[in-house]
Amino acid sequence: MTSISQPPSLKRRDSTVTREGDQLIITPLGAGNEVGRSCVYMSYKGKTVLFDCGIHPAYSGMAALPYFDEIDDPESIDVLLVTHFHLDHAASLPYFLEKTTFKGRVFMTHATKAIYKLLLSDYVKVSKVSVEDMLYDEQDILRSMDKIEVIDFHQTVEVNGIRFWCYTAGHVLGAAMFMVDIAGVRVLYTGDYSREEDRHLRAAEIPQFSPDICIIESTYGVQLHQPRLVREKRFTDVIHSTISQGGRVLIPAFALGRAQELLLILDEYWSNHPELHNIPIYYASPLAKRCMAVYQTYINAMNERIRNQFANSNPFDFKHISPLKSIENFDDVGPSVVMASPSGLQSGLSRQLFDKWCSDKKNACVIPGYVVEGTLAKTIINEPKEVTLMNGLTAPLNMQVHYISFSAHADYAQTSTFLKELMPPNIILVHGEANEMARLKQKLVTQFADRNVKIISPKNCQSVEMYFNSEKMAKTIGRLAEKTPEVGETVSGLLVKKGFTYQIMAPDDLHVFSQLSTVNITQRISVPYSGAFGVIKHRLKQIYESVESIDDASEVPTVQVHERVTVKQETEKYVSIQWASDPISDMVSDSIVALILNISREVPKVTVTEIKTEEGMGKTAEKVIFALLVSLFGDVKVGEEGKLVVTVDGNVARVDGKNGDVECDNESLKERVKTAFRRIQSAVKPIPLSVS
Ligand code: ZN
Ligand code: ZN
Ligand code: ZN
Repeated sequence: MTSISQPPSLKRRDSTVTREGDQLIITPLGAGNEVGRSCVYMSYKGKTVLFDCGIHPAYSGMAALPYFDEIDDPESIDVLLVTHFHLDHAASLPYFLEKTTFKGRVFMTHATKAIYKLLLSDYVKVSKVSVEDMLYDEQDILRSMDKIEVIDFHQTVEVNGIRFWCYTAGHVLGAAMFMVDIAGVRVLYTGDYSREEDRHLRAAEIPQFSPDICIIESTYGVQLHQPRLVREKRFTDVIHSTISQGGRVLIPAFALGRAQELLLILDEYWSNHPELHNIPIYYASPLAKRCMAVYQTYINAMNERIRNQFANSNPFDFKHISPLKSIENFDDVGPSVVMASPSGLQSGLSRQLFDKWCSDKKNACVIPGYVVEGTLAKTIINEPKEVTLMNGLTAPLNMQVHYISFSAHADYAQTSTFLKELMPPNIILVHGEANEMARLKQKLVTQFADRNVKIISPKNCQSVEMYFNSEKMAKTIGRLAEKTPEVGETVSGLLVKKGFTYQIMAPDDLHVFSQLSTVNITQRISVPYSGAFGVIKHRLKQIYESVESIDDASEVPTVQVHERVTVKQETEKYVSIQWASDPISDMVSDSIVALILNISREVPKVTVTEIKTEEGMGKTAEKVIFALLVSLFGDVKVGEEGKLVVTVDGNVARVDGKNGDVECDNESLKERVKTAFRRIQSAVKPIPLSVS
């Protein structure tokens, strides 16, 4: 059941929920029936997630923030997930992290984090607001950097029982869609996404799991994009004809994202048209140089086309485009093409050039993407006769205005295909201007009329309440169903999921009731060992909580570790280790092997003082960690200062075996090694050291 509650409020309600199931609440604090200040609140089973933390580009100061006041207690938010670096998704993050009581964890992808810092530092510098209106300063941005954690695409992270992972979203470099799973209920938040591959980015992935709820952008509503080649041709035609008639072309674009795509198009076009080589193209952004450096760093995150180009020469090392720092450095003597930020023409370089050029009909302004309501760029699309300049005077608008959209957002065709494949039972529309969103909703309602899909388009601060029965019901079948269990009795068997139904059956019944079959693999290895079996047992007890002696008729000394792995003194020279294969037992047995090999290398001493035991213990733990790292990464060596050197595909990570600190230039390998180390440590947790 779905309902929109009025009046909206996120204050804690009395938990007198009489409806069946648990209540899930989703509330847009921004981007509800608008584009800008994306921020969506979600709460379920006492867990709270915030998606995105943007500003509204048409407003300044506090007015640009999402409705954070609606959150009763920012401290109660567990996780904040930021999809991409655009200001309408990330620019209120320093405020939220530094000026509220929020104490949760924040995640974004590596590329997003790198560009976030660059963009926000620039945003703080160029946004001309009074000191009281400043939301945060450079220091706040730096402090926020320390709190932001990075996540790789497809890496699963768990925080307070909330599991989440992300998919490539296309759109801009580093953009991600987040799938969140709380107690089995899955919510997909798309952020801004595009299913179309362009010159440098991959298309958005379609998640392999159907979510219970999909929160999806609706920027382009029911509009359809022109094919990419048609758009590119219109773009280059307008530019070519304007400059050949002696005019200037202004392209107001956000410094990062589409700008790089358009620059790739322009540079290629110039290369193919030698007659244009005397016409300069400028990329006018104070960030131009640093942006390019970031883009070059993340070539591997881009599509195959650009990676292949990169093999020959750096495609972002443009041959016909020069950076332009400010209007003072600009020698405006003849035809030229200038790409300048901001995209909305609110202020800054693009606005200065606009004011200078707008009255001459030879000039052209090409608006290359979505423009936000309330900005000058949006106003001039409707070609008014006059415009107000920054100095307050009015001027005739004579320059040609062309709107050729390159923005990498889904159009109607992409949205409907994406939803048809995912088939979420609940769709929540965000990030769309009200009328556009209403048209999209209507069209989707018609499209999914026969499918019992709920489509909701809440306004800002309007809560959508849904009820989910996250308790899964499973039926016992086969021999397990022969006897009715007593209340409180535990039924154990295999849980088999077919679609949305669960069945519990005895392992032997599996082949009867499903097309699956079971197999048990018993592993057994012998390790040379000629010492006393008691030493092994003693050492195992130092590492594992449960080490039980087994008495059987054979009177062969035998112990069982955590009821999983059996260690037996086979002969005077060999110890055997046997276990039923599963990931945990495999790890435990690996560590036992390493431990036994380690003991046999030591010179046995009769007296073992407590200190020596501790040292031995430390060494054993390191050996175990070493053995397990080898099993995971292959190439592991012991390097300087006893550090473990892991090499994967030419990337090298140095691990401190004692505290798990990892040094590595490759962020993704670093995270992998760190995670592996943490897992190994908890798997072979050295329980109390003292020998009591
Ligand atoms: Zn975006
Ligand atoms: Zn956006
Ligand atoms: Zn994938």
